[in-house]
Amino acid sequence: MPANLSAIAPALLDWYDANARSLPWRAPPGTPAPDPYRVWLSEVMLQQTQVATVRPYFEKFVARWPDFASLAAAEDAELMAAWAGLGYYARARNLLACARAVANEHGGMLPDTEEGLRALPGLGAYTAAAIAAIAFGRRAVVVDANVERVVARLFALPQPLPAGRPAIRTATESITPDARAGDFAQAMMDLGSGICTPRTPRCLLCPVRTECDGFATGHPEAFPRKAPRREKPQRHGTLFWLEHDARVLLVRRPAKGLLGGMRALPTGPWAETPPGMAEAPVDADWQVMGAVAHGFTHFRLSCTVAAATLPAHMPAPDGEWWPIDSLDEAGMPTVFVRAQRLMEGLR
Ligand code: SF4
Repeated sequence: MPANLSAIAPALLDWYDANARSLPWRAPPGTPAPDPYRVWLSEVMLQQTQVATVRPYFEKFVARWPDFASLAAAEDAELMAAWAGLGYYARARNLLACARAVANEHGGMLPDTEEGLRALPGLGAYTAAAIAAIAFGRRAVVVDANVERVVARLFALPQPLPAGRPAIRTATESITPDARAGDFAQAMMDLGSGICTPRTPRCLLCPVRTECDGFATGHPEAFPRKAPRREKPQRHGTLFWLEHDARVLLVRRPAKGLLGGMRALPTGPWAETPPGMAEAPVDADWQVMGAVAHGFTHFRLSCTVAAATLPAHMPAPDGEWWPIDSLDEAGMPTVFVRAQRLMEGLR
């Protein structure tokens, strides 16, 4: 454990005052807290997604839906299309459910405690703590992946992840100050993203180097220790590109389940063995055009892309016949956009 725990927060906050990242959802250090709506929206978008990816989506969302009331009134399909490309689509469904709960049950104002925030759809322990600290100045223990890494190094914690998480939380709690809780949380995030980076921490620039047990070992990058990684399972599928009159057939995925409610190319089940053409939407002269791959949270997907033209006199199957020229506006998830790009490259 670092010898001087109480020195960590002041050193970090001084560093943050001079080096805070300027982000569209943030207030500068030491100034009044930002709009809770913006904090909430950014924290949901940032779950498992990089800042650079989130930034344009955040700008687009706040321009179109500037507060809980406007977002709560959005159509499901409209919001899902705007979210397309950000991934982890359950977040988008929860975002809408949460906006509606805040608008309808809380008078358009977020609850200002961790406990109240946790009761809302899609707000887990981390997000609730981050919002309570950043938007409402509450002392909260905010532990994301960046903070996990910084704290595991500061304390040179020997337990591997994920079993070591409770120890990381206890250690984080021991250095969290009562005042400026939001700035402290954001300072830890900035330190983790810019200085205490995963592979090559830039310790010589670090404001808490003199307190860091990981630095003292000479191998801070060895923390947090990791349990051996298990390979993600591989699944296979076929995406069907059915053309008719300069349009392509799109379907709406079932509301429940992976990519639920999203507009997509027809596809059969995603299974452990390649499925063939059995699930094609019509009996046609299907040609294999190539393959696309995508990594989901729990499995990797590899899909054959098969294309055909709707045979003359065959009734059109159910779905939307979307103009190929404006397919970018359909709001399809990434794996289907990859199939679209493959087909565009073959034209
Ligand atoms: Fe991370 Fe190095 Fe700073 Fe320790 S001294 S917190 S390892 S950057």
